[in-house]
Amino acid sequence: MRNILVVISGPSGVGKGTIVKLLLDADKSLVESVSCTTRAPRAGEENGKDYFFISKEEFSDRIAANDFLEYDEHFGNFYGTPRSFVERQLKEKSVILEIEVVGALNVKRLMPSSAVLIMVAPPSMEELEKRLSGRGSEGDEELKTRMQRVRYELDQAPLYDYVIVNDDSRETMRKIREIIRREKEKTI
Ligand code: 5GP
Repeated sequence: MRNILVVISGPSGVGKGTIVKLLLDADKSLVESVSCTTRAPRAGEENGKDYFFISKEEFSDRIAANDFLEYDEHFGNFYGTPRSFVERQLKEKSVILEIEVVGALNVKRLMPSSAVLIMVAPPSMEELEKRLSGRGSEGDEELKTRMQRVRYELDQAPLYDYVIVNDDSRETMRKIREIIRREKEKTI
C-alpha cells in the first residue's frame, strides 16, 4: 500500500486539533508534521510539539534555503511545512498536515498523487461562533476577522477531495480513517 499526505483543513475552532489527536492515537502508522510559525506560542503550547516557534528572520532564511514544502502568511504570521521531515517520513508512513486552505491547495499542486485534501466543516456557523468566542483567546475584532476567514475557507470546500461535517469528533475520526484506508489502497 502506498503512503499518502493527509491534508486536514477547516476553520479555526472547528475541532481539527482534537480530531488529529484521535487519529494519531488510533493509528500508529500515521505521523503528524510539526509546522514552523512566527506567531507567539499560546498558553500551554510547546515548542517542537505544537509548532516550532521561530523568528521572522529565521523563517526568511529557511524560505531562501527552500526548506519549506509550502508556506503562507496568515493574520500577519508565517506558517510553513518542513519539506525534509515530510519527504523523509513519507518513505515509511502516511503523514498528516493540519494547514489552512492556501497551503493545502499548494500541497495538492506540488504533490497531486500523494495529497488527499480533507476539509472539516462545522455543523453550523452559529455553533462555530459560539465555540470560537468560548475559547477566550480572541478579542471582539479578532473574532470578527476570524469569522470572515471562516466563510472564505468554507467557500474553498469544492476544491477539496472530501468535506466532513464535524458533529462528533470520534465519528469524524472514524470517517477520516476510512478515507485514509481507501486512499492507501489506490494504485495511482
Ligand atoms: P493557529 O495560529 O490557530 O495555530 O493556526 C492558524 C492557521 O494556520 C490554521 O488554519 C492552521 O491549520 C494553519 N497552519 C498551521 N501550520 C501551517 C503550515 O505549515 N502551513 C500553512 N499553510 N498553514 C498552517
